[in-house]
Amino acid sequence: MKMPRRIRTHCPFCNEHNEHEIQKARKGQPSEMKWGQRQFRRVTSGYRGYPRPLPPGGKPTQKVDLRYRCTECGKAHTREGFRVSRLELEG
Ligand SMILES: [Zn+2]
Repeated sequence: MKMPRRIRTHCPFCNEHNEHEIQKARKGQPSEMKWGQRQFRRVTSGYRGYPRPLPPGGKPTQKVDLRYRCTECGKAHTREGFRVSRLELEG
């Protein structure tokens, strides 16, 4: 799916429609101290491998995580992600 890099949409901070810049959120490094990561390390260590099998039909598509940054106030907000196999920002 192709998507424009700039769209005009509602800014919840200015409470009006403004030009927004769309950025893909990047995944950070997982913290080794967090419960989920500790659990993952414990479960994958030793015999038996990955704890969660892939669902039938292959790997599901991930939801995109987009940040909409208002060009007027400079603040960013998010929207509910949608599922798409490939997202291209253009323009
Ligand atoms: Zn704004």
